[in-house]
Amino acid sequence: MADYLISGGTGYVPEDGMSAQQLFSIGDGLTYNRSDMQSVRDGLTAEELCSKADGMTYNDFLILPGFIDFTSDEVDLTSALTRKITLKTPLISSPMDTVTESSMAIAMALMGGIGIIHHNCTPEFQANEVRKVKRFEQGFITDPVVMSPQHTVGDVFEAKVRHGFSGIPVTETGKMGSKLVGIVTSRDIDFLSEKDHSKPLEQAMTPRKDLVIAPAGVTLKEANDILQRSKKGKLPIVNDNDELVAIIARTDLKKNRDYPLASKDSRKQLLCGAAIGTRDDDKYRLDLLTQAGVDVVVLDSSQGNSVYQINMINYIKQKHPELQVVGGNVVTAAQAKNLIDAGVDALRVGMGCGSICITQEVMACGRPQGTAVYKVAEYARRFGVPVIADGGIQTVGHVVKALSLGASTVMMGSLLAATTEAPGEYFFSDGVRLKKYRGMGSLDAMEKSTSSQKRYFSEGDKVKVAQGVSGSIQDKGSIHKFVPYLIAGIQHGCQDIGAKSLSMLRSMMYSGELKFEKRTISAQVEGGVHGLHSYEKRLY
Ligand code: IMP
Repeated sequence: MADYLISGGTGYVPEDGMSAQQLFSIGDGLTYNRSDMQSVRDGLTAEELCSKADGMTYNDFLILPGFIDFTSDEVDLTSALTRKITLKTPLISSPMDTVTESSMAIAMALMGGIGIIHHNCTPEFQANEVRKVKRFEQGFITDPVVMSPQHTVGDVFEAKVRHGFSGIPVTETGKMGSKLVGIVTSRDIDFLSEKDHSKPLEQAMTPRKDLVIAPAGVTLKEANDILQRSKKGKLPIVNDNDELVAIIARTDLKKNRDYPLASKDSRKQLLCGAAIGTRDDDKYRLDLLTQAGVDVVVLDSSQGNSVYQINMINYIKQKHPELQVVGGNVVTAAQAKNLIDAGVDALRVGMGCGSICITQEVMACGRPQGTAVYKVAEYARRFGVPVIADGGIQTVGHVVKALSLGASTVMMGSLLAATTEAPGEYFFSDGVRLKKYRGMGSLDAMEKSTSSQKRYFSEGDKVKVAQGVSGSIQDKGSIHKFVPYLIAGIQHGCQDIGAKSLSMLRSMMYSGELKFEKRTISAQVEGGVHGLHSYEKRLY
């Protein structure tokens, strides 16, 4: 309503103002009921939307609804991650040290997406995180909290506060892979008083001889039966040398779910990605990652159109021809061309749109993300190279918009940060439960190790120039609740559009059948909640 005024007067004023026909035909969605307007040209094609000089962000446009003749849960979200890898859910977690390590990557893969393990850590740590994902078997916990006989009862109480459980296996060295000597449960410590807190666990635990254990190689079903019979809460799994290799928790078995969408390789192991840089020492990192079974590597540069990246792509394609390589980041077709010519299997698109990003402010380079996704995807599809829309996703609607502009998958940082599966501990500030979330180009992250500097520094840079900030995000609970919400939201969006699958969505877009409309500032206000004294926004 606030977007236009009617000019009055009777005088003849040539070329001044617009007819209603003109007003509503120039593409910007205006905030008034258009129902009685006849024969207007309705909406813009993606090409028209993105070819004007203005760069489009996700908030700058809407998609016009289509015809519905199917239910939303029939919408097929299968989409290509790379030339050779297809996902059932088009969602990827960012390679950031406050977003993706093994527990995020496991959860994402179980729900049909994929996680990319960050590289702001040693190559050994990163490869081990990949290994945990590849070796993951549902129900088996391979990295539980473990203590040694010298740990104290007080340590167990502390672990209970921090992790919320108390069945802790005790091994000779206090690590996995060492001889099992006992287990300490609530029953062992609940009646101990404050003065017993310094007692070593060897005096409080249930010793090995009284434990029910299962041998390595046991199936989940067999383990389940043993737990049922023994009525115990935890079942340690040991190898032939009596060394602890995993444990199974009764509580986990109870909430065991099926994951029909899970992303798996031909050996039925979960898919996992990892980020690397483009320096010489990244070749060692790459070797460790491939030994750990990584399925896809992401070359992590904020401006990917470089001789360093092209050389790295050539090196990987020669040394590991089967490994899928994602290049980027890029935002123009010209940047994309060089990486496609070098042989990338997918492109990561986005420069300056991330929630923690100050690249556009500092470097003056970048592109509004809607236009970037359309332009790169439109070029890359000619070569069968899928595009990942990376960054700037704030809502499920943004995911639908990215996909409708040609992206095959979306990569998210802030949306997945502060979930249970994101690395880092929760903390309280003003009574709000938070987790840290930081840009990999923030000084905070760059001070942690040298690898994230590589994304944001050039060789020989002496002064650090931050391209990101460090902050915090409110607790979002588990990915296992949040991702199903995202999936259902995308399916509903596609249903409103009239696209029964993501491939149909893309073909509707490229044929021009899918119509878009620009949003004026007040259209954006109208599209949000407004005019209420107060309200609660619960999304799922
Ligand atoms: P978000 O989903 O909007 O939070 O954006 C996440 C994306 O921002 C990541 O996948 C990276 O592409 C990008 N990114 C991560 N760290 C930085 C940074 O420090 N500066 C700029 N961009 C970053």
